Amino acid sequence: MTKDIATPIRTREILNNHKFSFKKSLGQNFLIDVNILRKIVDATGLTQEDGAIEVGPGIGALTEQLAKRTKKVTAFEIDQRLIPILQDTLAPYSHVAVHHQDILKADVKSVIENDMQDVRRVGVVGNLPYYVTTPILMSLLEQDLPVSGYTVMIQKEVADRIAAKPGTKDYGSLSIAVQYHAKAKKVMTVPKTVFVPQPNVDSAILHLELLEEPPIKVPDKDFYFQVVRASFAQRRKTLLNNLQHNLLGKEQKQEIIQALEEAGIDSQRRGETLSMEEFSRLSFALYPLYN
Ligand code: SAM
Repeated sequence: MTKDIATPIRTREILNNHKFSFKKSLGQNFLIDVNILRKIVDATGLTQEDGAIEVGPGIGALTEQLAKRTKKVTAFEIDQRLIPILQDTLAPYSHVAVHHQDILKADVKSVIENDMQDVRRVGVVGNLPYYVTTPILMSLLEQDLPVSGYTVMIQKEVADRIAAKPGTKDYGSLSIAVQYHAKAKKVMTVPKTVFVPQPNVDSAILHLELLEEPPIKVPDKDFYFQVVRASFAQRRKTLLNNLQHNLLGKEQKQEIIQALEEAGIDSQRRGETLSMEEFSRLSFALYPLYN
């Protein structure tokens, strides 16, 4: 039986044999703790009948653990130098495919349709490169991929913002953007010591269970998010103030007050106290003013 990739010794061996040097610009912090990797795989809820799409396999540490637990794994890696390494480290796993591609440019939907025909469900998994965590998550979520959920290792602070509830300091437009698509749960915090090289900040495992329908109704999705972003533009300002300065205009003050009243929301409240449902009512009330 081969040794796990994700031990400090085997990782060092692989990196030395291939004379690999990390690229900070690609967010390369590899996991060297098999227990943490198993926790990520546990959090996916995937089984031998399921498939996984992996973002950024690195030298294959997480890919290997996914391969042991699922029927099929397809991974997307941007760094050409890692492709021959992955061919080597993942050689024992014939049900793993690696694409040399930027996940932000890949046609993930077609790949799922082609590669994952014989699996029950598909999960997206990744120890995401920190420099581009939010664009990757948002771009995949907005493509409405045929997947059941996302399980990702990301910066702890970003996980806190994504999973935040109304009225907390972390709650903001990112919480709403993600929670519009999924139920978000922070699974556990992970110390920097389980990575090589060590990042500057702690991380967390985040699980997103996709919703079949958005949790709220909106008059128009883009407009809803414009209202949300405007309401959070200056966190210390009231809703009325933010909506006047960042969405409509001072001259529409009275109409905004009326719309807030119609939505049953006090104009002196701050954006961070509004639930997604309240933002929904507000966007319906403001929509006629905007068009
Ligand atoms: N999964 C490995 C692990 O846990 O040890 C590596 C994780 S490392 C944090 C992130 C990986 O994503 C790196 O291998 C990096 O080259 C790759 N990567 C960075 N940007 C990417 C992108 N846009 N598309 C695909 N892979 C990317």
